[in-house]
Amino acid sequence: MSERFFTPGPGPVQLDREMIAGRVADIGREIARDYGDDPLHLICVLNGAFVFMADLVRAIDRPVTMDFLSVSSYGSRTESSGEVRLVKDLDQSLKGKHVLLVEDIVDTGLTMQYLLGYLEGRGPTSVRVVALLSKPTRRLVEVPVHYLGFEIEDAYVYGYGLDIAHRYRNMPFVTSLLSGETEP
Ligand code: 5GP
Repeated sequence: MSERFFTPGPGPVQLDREMIAGRVADIGREIARDYGDDPLHLICVLNGAFVFMADLVRAIDRPVTMDFLSVSSYGSRTESSGEVRLVKDLDQSLKGKHVLLVEDIVDTGLTMQYLLGYLEGRGPTSVRVVALLSKPTRRLVEVPVHYLGFEIEDAYVYGYGLDIAHRYRNMPFVTSLLSGETEP
């Protein structure tokens, strides 16, 4: 792969791989400490959280189980439709489990609100949320984020699992567009 692919965008949010790795290690330690010997079940929200999930589970020095679900989100656009739809369901039961929902980014909060309602209806012992990024100024509904990587300003971010029209997910850092732009 050419070096030129991994080019930071022009926007205000820039999180390099060292910053991300440091935060993920801290959050992993915090989660391992908080849950102690309680069995922990992580749920990755595909597609955007897959890179964060892969790093986070290796930063939690405890046995965990995991599952994956997918909801429709921005598709090819950079504006939320506000509509949330389950595209891929969980494979395992949540009954009696301590569930930790792993999200890439909480923006309006609508996706998280939907997911929390969905998960809580499936009988877990507890549900908490870990998100790599949060844009608090964009929130339309209040949702809990128990563990957070970075609070960021209102910019469209990509890289480290996050996409622009299905591209850029494999960039090892998070970067951003200028307001109004749809391509770097
Ligand atoms: P919300 O429902 O909170 O508005 O949006 C949550 C979902 O929208 C995230 O899981 C993510 O898929 C997508 N999203 C929100 N903001 C961004 C962004 O800045 N960049 C990318 N790539 N996706 C975003």
